[in-house]
Amino acid sequence: MPHFTESIPDIFTALGRQSASARPPAELGSFESVAAAFLTRAADERITSQIIKALRDSGLMAPTQLAEADPVEVEDLFRTSGARSLVKLVRPLLKLAQWFAATLDDDDDVVLSVPTESLRDGLRSVNGIGPATADAVLLEGFGRAAYPVDRATYRILVRHGWIDLGVEYDEVRSLIEGALGDDPATLAWLSAEFATLGRLTCRATVAKCDRCPLRSLLPESGPLGDS
Ligand code: SF4
Repeated sequence: MPHFTESIPDIFTALGRQSASARPPAELGSFESVAAAFLTRAADERITSQIIKALRDSGLMAPTQLAEADPVEVEDLFRTSGARSLVKLVRPLLKLAQWFAATLDDDDDVVLSVPTESLRDGLRSVNGIGPATADAVLLEGFGRAAYPVDRATYRILVRHGWIDLGVEYDEVRSLIEGALGDDPATLAWLSAEFATLGRLTCRATVAKCDRCPLRSLLPESGPLGDS
């Protein structure tokens, strides 16, 4: 069984690797892009855009303003923006704003000067932000080379024998980041591709390998157990 790193060229070929970039680089690192990356973990792009616009129109898009906002008022703003089901994200979002304002001062030079590991530690320290969300915010919000290991990624790697069941989050993240290098666009592309496979073919309950582009990379015995 080839190592995950050795399999990268075949994975890229099987998935039809094309260059991809989720956001224009100029936006990355602003509080707005960080908040959008956080919200997109739970909402689609349309709802995220509605919430961002509502926060902007209310003068709350600056981290210092949002950090001091009344959570009940922000929850009402979410409801009137059509994001009633995302009200639970308001308090973590305010905590994210508090961390951003206190740590990064909403200053582009400060944001650029902070190492990725420090940003990761800071994001993980925010109540309500777990390791995968922290890496998604690093990648999509700050434009850093980070890979958010979601359940689909974990499943695919286990089923192909690229990792063992039970491997820790950071070990999987390091494996993927080490194999793909430090290009955020490539990391974002693979993350999106694996998420799509996780929805369409490599589901938690069933692996539909016969219709999956990665079937030629399976072990001879087929997908390995992941539960
Ligand atoms: S070939 Fe099978 S195990 Fe591999 S990603 Fe596709 S569905 Fe999952």
